[in-house]
Amino acid sequence: MRALGMTKGPMMRVLMVAPPGAGKGTQGAVIATHFGIPHIATGDLLRDHVARRTPLGQAVQAHLDQGELVPDEIVLDMVREALADAAATGGGYVLDGVPRTMAQARATYQIGLELGMTADVALHLKADDRELERRLLARAALEGRSDDTEETIRRRLRVYHELTHPIVAWYGDRGIFVTVDAMRPADQVGREILAALEVMRSFVHRSPDQPRRAVDLSGLGAAFGELPAPTP
Ligand code: AMP
Repeated sequence: MRALGMTKGPMMRVLMVAPPGAGKGTQGAVIATHFGIPHIATGDLLRDHVARRTPLGQAVQAHLDQGELVPDEIVLDMVREALADAAATGGGYVLDGVPRTMAQARATYQIGLELGMTADVALHLKADDRELERRLLARAALEGRSDDTEETIRRRLRVYHELTHPIVAWYGDRGIFVTVDAMRPADQVGREILAALEVMRSFVHRSPDQPRRAVDLSGLGAAFGELPAPTP
């Protein structure tokens, strides 16, 4: 991703609530690059443990393969450690993949309170199930993730609707909630997210200490299984 320039402003603390396939990973990376903050993706951290065959990886592998959530304590320990690291690098962050349950939402808020770094924005990426299934199957062909099979994709979407989506109302009540239509091409979604976060940023009153980078969004389409634009 190409950085085009940098401006100063308060660091951002963002968490994403989105169904699988909505573009959390892609847009999380865009947000992280733009604001110069760490991208903390629990799915990536867990997959890394599985790949390295750590004891934790062995404990969670079956959950990942089956599209089920891993136990809250495991994820919350990771979040606490990652946020403590983020505190040491300026205090901003974009959390991708957590919270996924109401209990995780409350616990993440609690951890944020303890560290003095609760989220400024809860970003919801909205897309319908048919489009999500299409994207996940396209990704399966590209990346071969063990949980991108048809049956597991359906289970992950079910888990999202039952356990994760109810969190949306909770953040709505806390007044830090932004919803973006994630059905459109990834570069458009990215632009809208950055515009929305810049608006929210003006409500964040912290000392300016973190550079922000402009990001080239034009190459994002492939990650969503999009066809290249026809040449005129
Ligand atoms: P993701 O990369 O965000 O789609 O996550 C992939 C898988 O990792 C999920 O299907 C879960 O098995 C596991 N996972 C990631 N984040 C969490 C979380 N916050 N709570 C429980 N399980 C998680």
